Amino acid sequence: MPPEKGVGTALTRLPGIGARLAEKLGKLGIRRVEDLPFHLPARYEDRTRVLRVGELRPGVSALVEGEVTASEVTGGRRQRLVCRISDGTGHLELVFFHFYGAQRQKLVRGARLRLFGEARPGPVMLQMVHPEWSLVEPDAPPPTGGFIPVYPSTEGLTQLQIRRAMAAALEQVDTLQEWLPEALRAALKLPSLSAALRHVHAPETDADIAALIEGRDPAVRRLAFEELLAHRLSLLRLRAEHQRVAPAPALNVEGELPGALLTQLGFALTQAQQRVHAEIKADLATTEPMLRLVQGDVGSGKTVVAALATLSAVESGWQAAVMAPTELLTEQHYRSFMGWLEPLGVQVDWLGGRLSAAAHRQALLNLAEGRTQVVIGTHALFQEAVVFHRLGLVVVDEQHRFGVHQRLALRDKGGGHIQPHQLVMTATPIPRTLAMTAYADLDVSVIDELPPGRTPVQTVALPDSRRDEVMDRVRVACKEGRQVYWVCALIEASDVLEAEAAEATAERMRTHLPDVRVGLVHGRLKAEEKEAAMHAFEQGELDLLVATTVIEVGVNVPNASLMVIENAERFGLAQLHQLRGRVGRGEAVSSCVLLYKSPLSQTARARLSVLRESNDGFRIARRDLEIRGPGELLGTRQTGELNYRIADLLRDGDLLDHVQQAAATLLQQYPDATQALIDRWVGAGERYAQV
Ligand code: ADP
Ligand code: MG
Repeated sequence: MPPEKGVGTALTRLPGIGARLAEKLGKLGIRRVEDLPFHLPARYEDRTRVLRVGELRPGVSALVEGEVTASEVTGGRRQRLVCRISDGTGHLELVFFHFYGAQRQKLVRGARLRLFGEARPGPVMLQMVHPEWSLVEPDAPPPTGGFIPVYPSTEGLTQLQIRRAMAAALEQVDTLQEWLPEALRAALKLPSLSAALRHVHAPETDADIAALIEGRDPAVRRLAFEELLAHRLSLLRLRAEHQRVAPAPALNVEGELPGALLTQLGFALTQAQQRVHAEIKADLATTEPMLRLVQGDVGSGKTVVAALATLSAVESGWQAAVMAPTELLTEQHYRSFMGWLEPLGVQVDWLGGRLSAAAHRQALLNLAEGRTQVVIGTHALFQEAVVFHRLGLVVVDEQHRFGVHQRLALRDKGGGHIQPHQLVMTATPIPRTLAMTAYADLDVSVIDELPPGRTPVQTVALPDSRRDEVMDRVRVACKEGRQVYWVCALIEASDVLEAEAAEATAERMRTHLPDVRVGLVHGRLKAEEKEAAMHAFEQGELDLLVATTVIEVGVNVPNASLMVIENAERFGLAQLHQLRGRVGRGEAVSSCVLLYKSPLSQTARARLSVLRESNDGFRIARRDLEIRGPGELLGTRQTGELNYRIADLLRDGDLLDHVQQAAATLLQQYPDATQALIDRWVGAGERYAQV
């Protein structure tokens, strides 16, 4: 294999691989000769020993030997050859739908065969259909087949074809460059690249096959390590490139505005808020563009920390933009920011679909001419029509699904010669393992403390056969002057169906609880209708708010102390925790009822019990990761970025600290290795081509 540079070596350069075969391999992500060795076997066929026929079980692929006891051609027009063999411990039937005369002459009574195939249940006894077979002499030496790899494949691609291609590639495996420094491999007890590849593709007859398949074998760990390292290097490089494009404005972080806000707040920042505020300040004060993720559980007080950052921008003569994923949330932020910033003389504006055309035009003008100092809006803020006068800071709220590409797009709003600082905030705590891989390009701050006086939400899970009881609880709570959310969402349902479900539920509530003032919010309502309902609920004019997950993020009504969630078993834990975070924001002891449809699956039961037992978003996210895997947790967008060929974040999580250290070392001391590893594992720019 020539050096892995650029596009690499075309597969068709290997003997026996034509364009069609190359195309099929491409479907497996194998595009270059260099990719082949990193396509690992899914399992191995054990041809190291001969199994007794009596030991065969359906579904087992094995090597057996026996003597033909019967052989005949049956069937009318579509003839087949059926033989039986025995080794004294049991009988096995062999079926050939295609056969030749010569074959028939060899498979006669008394012939001794060595066979390899998968045993399946047949009408009379276990069968093998089209096994591999050969005649053996009575004193034939034991088999030397070893463990034969079985590769993940795709339609029209046989194991034999993959194995041949692999064999050709493996002949050149020694020419693959070893990029992990000797000292690093020694410290982690990782084998060399060529030794690791040989071992996984052609294990010795005494290899621990289970360890290979489960990824415990040092050879697999070595490959996973290298892959994780390459991805981390790639993200770090992306970050470096990002920051090189243009400097950010160095902001005055010691001005008067932040201090003025703090004295006027009516509460003191928690220790955690203070720490994170300081971390942000340190970033903002330099021309290196900030790329920081703030993680904080629901209710940990991220908004005020963001507001403080926007004040540093304003103080220094720069604009700040605050984005949130839903209009509802932007409206709420707008109210908070207005409440905090307007008394300080700061011009805050809101940009959203509800504005009239004229008001919208005016808002755009105010932004472009610099009259607006802080603007709140959805991601529409980053449409081309929106022009900033001097954008110095972007805050992205509730957006852990905000990928590398979007982050890159944001910097362009700075006008080219300068780029804004970026602050991303999320209430879905990402377990460290994920954060380190998905967000290697971000610095991470954690607000790991709730403001004082919060009582944990008591959570129970009930089958929906007990709905009446729950309705009673709702009635009692409302009578006591408390407010209630009833969340009825359907997962994977359309907006329309979800809205219908919510409407039906609201109707039922109105009928069954005549004394309760019921409101309704769902995604199909007009913005004004949603706003009106939310506003009425906030003002205490409604007792019960029936809603879909539009209330998932951010909504803040301290008097609400009971939440009921229907179809809870269908939600992700992180999402349930988010929803639940809408209550427990005030003085009253709050509770959350998870209604589920019985019977519950084992997994669903496990998930719901995590929520009952914990109020710690980080713990919950970790369990969610274990139960559902990283793709689900991060959402589809990021899944692409976490599509590893070999590594598995759950299995290999313990490697990540070492990966982080190794990445730093490589960047400093082995720049060639950095580029080569990224080429090898992440592809020659392919992944980021679609930005
Ligand atoms: P989240 O982190 O979920 O976005 P918010 O920023 O919405 O949380 O804060 C939740 C509530 O807590 C708000 O009403 C906010 O004003 C209040 N809050 C924030 N920080 C503190 C604090 N240090 N002490 C008391 N209340 C606080
Ligand atoms: Mg928030």
